[in-house]
Amino acid sequence: MLAICNTKIILEEGMIWDGTVLCKEDRIADFGPGNEVTIPEGADILDAKGKYTAPGLIDIHCHGGNMKFFYEDPQKAAEVHFKNGTTTLLPALYQTLTYEQFTEGIDRIRLAQKEGSGRIIAGLYMEGPFMNPKYGSDAANSKWKGHIDEARMRSLVDYAGKDVRVWCVAPEREDIEVFCKYAKQVNPNVRFSMGHTECRPWQAYRLKKYGLINQTHHGNATAVNNPIVPSNVGIRDVGPDEACLYDSDMYAELIADSMAIHVKPHMLRLVMKVKGLNKVILITDHYPENCGNPAGPFWGGKKAEDLGYVSDGAVCGSLMTLNTACRNMMAHTGCGLCHAIQFATINPARMLGIDDEVGSIEKGKKANLVVTDDMLHVEHVIFEGRRQ
Ligand SMILES: [Zn+2]
Repeated sequence: MLAICNTKIILEEGMIWDGTVLCKEDRIADFGPGNEVTIPEGADILDAKGKYTAPGLIDIHCHGGNMKFFYEDPQKAAEVHFKNGTTTLLPALYQTLTYEQFTEGIDRIRLAQKEGSGRIIAGLYMEGPFMNPKYGSDAANSKWKGHIDEARMRSLVDYAGKDVRVWCVAPEREDIEVFCKYAKQVNPNVRFSMGHTECRPWQAYRLKKYGLINQTHHGNATAVNNPIVPSNVGIRDVGPDEACLYDSDMYAELIADSMAIHVKPHMLRLVMKVKGLNKVILITDHYPENCGNPAGPFWGGKKAEDLGYVSDGAVCGSLMTLNTACRNMMAHTGCGLCHAIQFATINPARMLGIDDEVGSIEKGKKANLVVTDDMLHVEHVIFEGRRQ
């Protein structure tokens, strides 16, 4: 038994100011106001000293950590996220990997899941390979351009199998429905996300029947130019961003970096307003590519500490952990702590369909918790009922 007391409990719809959370084995056994919850004798007591207890964070789109990619060294990559309060994480594998790199990376990830920080890994986020190689950093290096070879596609889907929670696709790719149909047949619980794409709304909606429910990093790698009007006329076309904003079923991933380079503060606020509090998902898109470039590029004279870069200086993901993304979201939009945490816990859990197990503080759910201050400086991480 673990009892977290003297804490403000962050619930899905509200807060308990002076509360206690009880964990028994790997589950949340009880919670409530401190004077209503009896702490059993012999329980391990964690005095939160008035700080907040929130559900463990869920990062569904994360390429690496500690200067390592998940496909290379998943244990090392997971460490930094775990320490900072992420207790459920989907390693993202990108379209520039070859077939062999995908399968070897998946093998390493499967092995890492069994112990240590690797235990936070809850499946895979396949960022490709069937996206549009015109969009995104290094996308031109995609090893999966052109016609979708059905045998090679099936072989990848068979290999990744049921471990894939999200396949990111460009709905405009030729034969993408053949792929979606097969991926769904292999894993009926799989979700599709549109990303690295210039699709029109109707092309996206066509994939809803297979489970398209998410947009990969809204506002990034989604440029659309009106093909029939010269670009200097300045007529805005509609593309993936508008398709996501318009469709009320769809979730929008946001990368909220400290300088709002990926998504401008006004756009973060617009997405929050249009999608509502239940359909926003914060991600890190952590990408350790710039480890060889310690000086890093500068933006407006300031060093962008939490941005990822590829060698040509293009922005490529971030170097954040998800607690930082929550903090940035509050700074750029004025949203409160509870909502920022909702964007990083129950919303991604619902999108993936794992909200019966994780994503909020409820009796019977996994006791994955963080004790944090109001700026998301994480002080304690509890994983499956145990202090880490
Ligand atoms: Zn991406």
